[in-house]
Amino acid sequence: MMNRTREPLIFERSVAGKIGMDLPKLDVPAAKDTRPAHLRRTSFDAMPSVTEVDVIRHFTRLSKWNYGVDDGLYPLGSCTMKHNPRLNEKTAGLDGFCDSHPMTAAPYVQGNLAVIHTLQEWLKEITGLAAVTLQPSAGAAGELTGAMLIRAFHVAHGRKRRVILIPDSAHGTNPATAAMAGYEVVEIASQGDGTVSFADVTDASGKVKKGLTTLLAELGEEVAGLMITNPNTLGIFEYRIKDICEALHAVGGLVYMDGANMNALVGVARPGDFGVDVMHLNLHKTFSTPHGGGGPGSGPVACSAALEPFLPRPVVVRETKAVGEGQVPVHTYRLDWDRPQSMGKVHTFFGNFGILVRALTYCASHGGDGLRAATLRAIVNANYIRKQLEGTYHLEYQTPTLHEVIFDDSFLAPHDIHTLDVAKGLIDRGFHPPTIYFPAIVHGALMIEPTESEGKEEMDAFIDAMKDIAREAAENPEALHQAPVLAPMRRLDETTAARKPVLRWTRPQ
Ligand SMILES: *Cc1c(COP(=O)(O)O)cnc(C)c1O
Repeated sequence: MMNRTREPLIFERSVAGKIGMDLPKLDVPAAKDTRPAHLRRTSFDAMPSVTEVDVIRHFTRLSKWNYGVDDGLYPLGSCTMKHNPRLNEKTAGLDGFCDSHPMTAAPYVQGNLAVIHTLQEWLKEITGLAAVTLQPSAGAAGELTGAMLIRAFHVAHGRKRRVILIPDSAHGTNPATAAMAGYEVVEIASQGDGTVSFADVTDASGKVKKGLTTLLAELGEEVAGLMITNPNTLGIFEYRIKDICEALHAVGGLVYMDGANMNALVGVARPGDFGVDVMHLNLHKTFSTPHGGGGPGSGPVACSAALEPFLPRPVVVRETKAVGEGQVPVHTYRLDWDRPQSMGKVHTFFGNFGILVRALTYCASHGGDGLRAATLRAIVNANYIRKQLEGTYHLEYQTPTLHEVIFDDSFLAPHDIHTLDVAKGLIDRGFHPPTIYFPAIVHGALMIEPTESEGKEEMDAFIDAMKDIAREAAENPEALHQAPVLAPMRRLDETTAARKPVLRWTRPQ
């Protein structure tokens, strides 16, 4: 019998001579092959020889081992794994969107340009900022675009600045972005409640970490800007964000907000209103596009009027013809390339257009009131899980949280049970694990973000699973060390997989 717990690679299923199609005999003279000899394929060994049935069964089996947001609660903190409304797919699949070529002249793709322009306008409204580019293809790409905007701004004003300040709770992409944009990263201490500290902080070992006040006093006009996530990666609202922005502006620095957590703010608070100069949004998180499989994303950047001249080009602009009273105005859209201070392009054409259509559909189908309701519900859901689990699991930071909650594994240490064991135990109980060991300032973090998509029943089932794991940790820790026992793959050697990844199959000799 076939071993159903081990699905071979499609290459291992290959049998010489098998094929999934049938072509008629060539009935015209073969064209002369003019390609240089070294570019010609001499064998087809790189591809598996399989039938259509083999292909379908292979991938269908693999898909059944998978866990997706359509299977159940997917509490991956910071990733906002919300439901992807099917209406988004329907609109993104319309012929006029799918089949148009990005090089088509503007007069023939007015509808597509209207999508881009409308989404820009709505994101301006949501962020409270003056301008938006939809080009960047993900959050991290948006961060880089934002850091380059900050650089372009300072250069245009003849200022030499070398430092970007980043709180120690930041997502790893933030320091990576600042470094890629040519800045030196200086870390800001967090205070006891998990937010950015103005004062210096002495940790348990007596080491002093500098707060914002000291850093700005010491570095002053060397500071190009600060990158801050709000709510931060602990799910805590940086309640002094206005003061932080003012302190930066006082030394001529700019504030970049990592907007990956906008699912906690949309329709409730606008970063532009609290002083942020530039930020990104993750359309694939907050605005519901399937993500996580490495597929396309979209990370629009919103910025203040002062930064607008440096945005990537072309910019879609709308012109409205004056019409008589009572008549419907006529809009035309065109591409504005004439932007001499533009940083250039950060993506081909207009970014990942299909994601833009989905995000616009999401906004339109929710309406302003619906977007706000989704935000409030995402916050209520996370707080429901927090309340239900806080007697069982340990919360390092007691500060109220918004759309996600971060527990740690300190209370399980006496049983030699750690965050990884909890995550594996969840797999046996039918759930995807939360984000683990991030943010790094919480030892053994379990970062749970249910999103607004979950109903009470699903959250209760998750809460029961988490409590059951805590009980098993105390009663039978050895069993939990074995988890997962019900998954096709047991515990993997994740360290070796990360350090020595095998990315290429080679045919056994
Ligand atoms: C997801 C995330 C990012 C990066 O976004 P990508 O779209 O994955 O590039 C940056 N910061 C935070 C806080 C995030 O959660």
